[in-house]
Amino acid sequence: GFKMGIVGLPNVGKSTLFNALTRTAAAQAANFPFCTIEPNVGDVAVPDDRLQKLAEIGKSREVIPTRMTFVDIAGLVRGASKGEGLGNQFLANIREVDAIAHVLRCFEDDDVTHVEGKIDPVADAETIETELMIADMDSIEKRLANLSRKIRGGEKDAVEQDKLLRRALEALEAGKPARTVDVAEDEQKNWRMLQLLTSKPVLFVCNVEESSAGEGNALSARVAEMAAAQGAAHVVISAQIEEEISQLDAEEAEMFLSEMGLEEPGLDRLIRAGYALLGLHTYFTVGPKEARAWTIPKGTLAPQAAGVIHGDFERGFIRAETVAYPDYIACNGEAGAKEAGKFRIEGKTYEVKDGDVLHFLFNT
Ligand code: GDP
Repeated sequence: GFKMGIVGLPNVGKSTLFNALTRTAAAQAANFPFCTIEPNVGDVAVPDDRLQKLAEIGKSREVIPTRMTFVDIAGLVRGASKGEGLGNQFLANIREVDAIAHVLRCFEDDDVTHVEGKIDPVADAETIETELMIADMDSIEKRLANLSRKIRGGEKDAVEQDKLLRRALEALEAGKPARTVDVAEDEQKNWRMLQLLTSKPVLFVCNVEESSAGEGNALSARVAEMAAAQGAAHVVISAQIEEEISQLDAEEAEMFLSEMGLEEPGLDRLIRAGYALLGLHTYFTVGPKEARAWTIPKGTLAPQAAGVIHGDFERGFIRAETVAYPDYIACNGEAGAKEAGKFRIEGKTYEVKDGDVLHFLFNT
């Protein structure tokens, strides 16, 4: 599965947010028992209104959303790259995630101590980024030393890795995170294998006070500006409200949201933003037993998309019967789509689109 790590300085609201994410009714929906693999790892349903509509048309008995994983990574403080706080353990945890949700304190509250002594989310973001950049530089220098031996031994991969690491180091030494390095398509695989902390995509999460949950405040506006300048995404959320909502049932939650003037829980926006950040999208399978959403990286071809359901589907792939989501809805299901000429047979080279309703045929 795809993993998003929640990071931030102490006391910014990470745990509050993580608890909200994993306790919410949606997280526990659909006969998947909510499982905490570890206390700080949670599986969350990806909210998607389309799925319910498909289930109604398909008269499916069950609705099964697709899921992604959030990891609460505590312990990042100033000096982490030099072993302060949880230091190395923290950095190891972050290496394993696909993207980072960086929580920034954008609320004033005299009762909650700020580790840096003042509320300044842009400075906080820089503090954390600096720690990650230092950690990357340290690990690159160690790896370059190891590689020089392998290069002398004639290892081809080592040459390629060495080249990429030097480009990353150059950016880092200029004060820029590794994600600013231009990486060609055919270098992507090796680049990802380097697992540099600052090469991972970042989503800034502005944790604001209750009254600013809709529009944000002056602090979150500064974060928005910073994010835009870096080409990064941001969301505004009130972790405290989200935690309260997560303890309500669906009907109560809806009332609460409308009283607050909110259209949907901030968590839904956060999860979707994370999903987009990871370059993921969704296809559906619909039948009388279940309507189900499946996650694939953008650009995935039909056989590999089938492989997400089962390895046999990929190995024995013959074809994919395909109806685009808007056609499925407009034609009231597969039979109607067939009549309207919206039912397609696609082969091995078909790139699955977001929202496709698919049925795979395969040899066993
Ligand atoms: P973490 O150290 O980043 O995991 O932060 P926590 O989630 O433990 O939150 C630290 C403290 O800030 C707790 O006392 C929370 O109740 C409080 N807190 C979190 N979010 C908010 C918020 O949006 N507003 C206010 N006033 N307090 C918050």
